[in-house]
Amino acid sequence: MVQYTEVMVRYGELSTKGKNRKDFIGKLAANVNRVLKDFPEIEVHPKHDRMHITLNGTPFEVIDEKLKKVFGIQTYSPVIKTEKSLESIKETALEIMQATYEAGMTFKVNTRRSDHKFEYDTNQLNSIIGDYIFEKIPGIKAEMKHPDLVLRIEVRQDAVYISNQLLHGAGGMPVGTAGKAVMMLSGGIDSPVASYLALKRGVDIEMVHFFSPPYTTEKALAKAKELTGVLANYAGKINFIAVPFAEIQETIKEKLPEGYLMTVQRRFMLRLADIIRERRGGLAIFNGESVGQVASQTLESMVAINDVTTTPVLRPVATMDKTEIIKLAEKIGTFDLSIVPFEDCCTIFAPPRPKTKPKLDKARKYESYLDVDGLIQRALDGIEITAIYPDQKFIDNQSSEDADLL
Ligand code: ATP
Ligand code: MG
Repeated sequence: MVQYTEVMVRYGELSTKGKNRKDFIGKLAANVNRVLKDFPEIEVHPKHDRMHITLNGTPFEVIDEKLKKVFGIQTYSPVIKTEKSLESIKETALEIMQATYEAGMTFKVNTRRSDHKFEYDTNQLNSIIGDYIFEKIPGIKAEMKHPDLVLRIEVRQDAVYISNQLLHGAGGMPVGTAGKAVMMLSGGIDSPVASYLALKRGVDIEMVHFFSPPYTTEKALAKAKELTGVLANYAGKINFIAVPFAEIQETIKEKLPEGYLMTVQRRFMLRLADIIRERRGGLAIFNGESVGQVASQTLESMVAINDVTTTPVLRPVATMDKTEIIKLAEKIGTFDLSIVPFEDCCTIFAPPRPKTKPKLDKARKYESYLDVDGLIQRALDGIEITAIYPDQKFIDNQSSEDADLL
C-alpha cells in the first residue's frame, strides 16, 4: 500500500467567480472538515484552485469513502508530496509504481507543470521518469492509449505531487451554497432520491415528515428517520421535523367526498410544509413527485395542490422514470430501506379511486367546509424536531411492542 502524504482535491462547477467562488471553497472546506472530524491529525487547506488535505499519517483508504460523498468535489487524487529535484521525483515515482505494479501491466507517465521555470519541461520529465521505471521494473511496458497505470506528476510552485489515481468525486455544489429549503420526505423510494439531488445542488435541506399515529406505527416514523440518516452522509447533519397528521386525515375523510381526499390532504401537507419553511428561514419546498406516476402526480393534480402557495415547489425527479429513480436509490444507499413495508400516512388514508384530474375550484370549495386554520395550528403545535447524523439508526431501537403491531 502506498503511504500517501495528502489528497489533492479539484473543485466542481467553479464557473462562478469572486464572492461566490470564495463561498464555494469556504463551504466545501467546512463540509470536508465535518466529515473528517474523527481524524484530528488531518489538516484541510483550501486554496483558490485546489484543496489540499494533509493526511499526517492517516491512510488515505480510511477517508476515501467519506470524501466520495462530499458535494463540490469534481475529482481527487491521493498524492505523495515531494521535493522539486529529479532525484526525489524518481524515488517517489518508483515507490508508487512498485506498490501498484503487477506482472503484465502497462503504464504511462503524465506530467503537468504550473511552475514553468522548473528545469525540465513535461516531455523531458515524461521520458526521464519513464526510462527510470523501465530500468527499475523489468518487463513493464509503456502504453499511451489505454495504460493500466497512469503515473501523474504535477510540478507546482511549492513542490512536486505524484499520484497513480484520479478518482471521481460526487460533483455538484457544496451543501449550503444554495441556501436553505424544506424537503417533504415520506418513507418511499422517490423523496429520498429527490433529497439527494437537492443536496447535490448545494441546498441545505430540513426534512418535513407527516405521520399519523395511531394509524401508522412508530416503525414507520423510525424508517423515515433512518432514511434521513443515510442522506446525512451527504450533508453532515439533517434536521427531521415530524408533523402529526392524523386529525387532518380523519377530518377530511369524514367530511369530504372520496374523490377529493387525496387532493385536499396534499393541499394541507403543502400548506404545513410552507409554514414550516418560512419559520425555518427556507426559500423553497422540495418533494419527490414524478409527473404522471400516480393520481396525485398528474399535472392537473399539481395545479389543484400547488394552489395553496406561491413558494417555489421543486421536484428533482419530476421527469425521471421509476427505473431511473430506483437505480439512483440503489446507488445512494436508500433503496433497501425504502422498500421495507412499514405503511406511512398516505397509504393508509389513500382512497381507492382518487381523481386523476381534480378540479381546482372543487378542491377549494370542499376545503372551505373545514376549519383549515384550526387543523393547521394543532398540527404545528405537535411538531417534533430531531437532529439526525450520518448512518444513525432508528428502526432497531423500537420496542418489541411496536414490532407486534406489524
Ligand atoms: P415517495 O416514493 O417519495 O413516497 P410516491 O411515489 O410514493 O413518492 P406519493 O406517496 O404520492 O408518491 O408522495 C409524493 C410526494 O409527496 C413524496 O415524494 C413526498 O415528497 C411527499 N410526501 C408523501 N407522503 C409524505 C409524508 N408522509 N411526509 C412527507 N412528505 C410526503
Ligand atoms: Mg409514497
